[in-house]
Amino acid sequence: MAADSATPAATPTPVRSVDEIRAQFPILAREVKGKPLAYLDNGATAQKPLAVIEAMDAYYRGHNANVHRGVHTLSEEATDLYEGARAKVAGLLGSTSPREVVFTRNVTSALNLVAQSWGTANLQAGDRILLTEMEHHANIVPWHMIAQRTGAELQFAPIDEEGRLDRAALSELLAGGPRVFAFTHVSNVLGTKNPVTELVAEAKAAGALTVIDGAQSVPKFPVNVAEIGADFYGLTAHKLYGPTGIGAIWGRRELWEALEPFEGGGSMINKVTPEKITWASVPARFEAGTPPIAEAAGLAAAIDWVQEVGIRAIEAHENQLTAYALPRLAEVPGLTVFGPQDTVEREGIISFELEGVHPHDVSEILDRHGVAVRAGHHCAQILMRRLGVAATTRASFAVYNTTEEIDTLVEALHDARRIFGL
Ligand code: PLP
Repeated sequence: MAADSATPAATPTPVRSVDEIRAQFPILAREVKGKPLAYLDNGATAQKPLAVIEAMDAYYRGHNANVHRGVHTLSEEATDLYEGARAKVAGLLGSTSPREVVFTRNVTSALNLVAQSWGTANLQAGDRILLTEMEHHANIVPWHMIAQRTGAELQFAPIDEEGRLDRAALSELLAGGPRVFAFTHVSNVLGTKNPVTELVAEAKAAGALTVIDGAQSVPKFPVNVAEIGADFYGLTAHKLYGPTGIGAIWGRRELWEALEPFEGGGSMINKVTPEKITWASVPARFEAGTPPIAEAAGLAAAIDWVQEVGIRAIEAHENQLTAYALPRLAEVPGLTVFGPQDTVEREGIISFELEGVHPHDVSEILDRHGVAVRAGHHCAQILMRRLGVAATTRASFAVYNTTEEIDTLVEALHDARRIFGL
């Protein structure tokens, strides 16, 4: 089963020289423990190019004001920046309608918004909510919460031994008629790239609402919501070379129109009287209070930056890194990589176990070599239980990473084995 791509394959343009790209990220010049930083924790958050840092700085220096409510010049400029960012998110996701994009704090709050607003209106006791075993807690806990409130029941589509969704088991679960199928496009632990277009088509045929967590996919390859056919698709800016504090969720216009907000406050109402309230139109209805304006300026700059480098070029570069890393990691005795072992069905998010060394110790020893990775359950405890481990170590790549950094990672892993007498 080949993972499908949301857009037709085009010949990837080679990534601009990695040195040229690295020069745009000030933090990459620093040292850690006296060694050059090898930042391989991009699945947690990506570093920010100067274009993003400067866009936020320029906003505060020259345009800062609150949006929408003012008729003065600064407020209009801030509004233009904020709404311009919305249009860029829509464009990035292949939507022609910025009004279908709602800004949130991150993808976690995006998924909470759908679970609460859609779930309150549509779920009742006995309904099924279908998730997968490879979800991040951001796509589990909000559904747990709405299940508790409504009496709906959670189901988890299993993964196979290679860390892909078990399609036969999934089909059986879909045949049971879940009201919603919420799943991740790319696993933050296994790196698995799910065949979203096929999965959405199957879920839709079964009558389920489809909600996709795009936290790890949007930074890595082109995503086109029109081609995928999903109902909701969320992203988080800080993994896309943008700032923390802002995320977004695209949804079908008619679905948004039918939903009630779950947070109330300024900006999201049409009229408030002592007796009743009427909602503002979409998307303002779902954006209560002062939004993350500087962060929107940063996100807009991040999208411009990604598009200038070229998302296909980013994809090609990271695939090369993954293809280099998998055999190199296999040289380390006692090391097991979780998830698919090829670059077709997986992305450059590589979780592994080093026999005899706890992931936190691995991570600490790697840090002595300047290598930043993540150790722990990666907010995926259901998956950890399925894999039969308490934690893993995870190296995850971005466009500025190099094969030399992967060599440093591998050398540091050999060092960890030496230190533990293995
Ligand atoms: N979903 C996946 C697959 C992730 O990897 C992450 C972050 O690690 C999230 C959701 C949550 O992202 P955020 O904390 O930005 O909401």
